[in-house]
Amino acid sequence: MVVQTQRDEVTWYKCEACGLMFDAKDDARQHESDCDGEDPSYIQ
Ligand SMILES: [Zn+2]
Repeated sequence: MVVQTQRDEVTWYKCEACGLMFDAKDDARQHESDCDGEDPSYIQ
């Protein structure tokens, strides 16, 4: 999931799964579809 976050009056888009941050929402969403960090089923 991509979350929007504000830092120094700049909006960033963060991949919740792995913590990577992007300055463009499209980049974040594209990363999200490739991200392996989502749904870590081994963590209870
Ligand atoms: Zn990610």
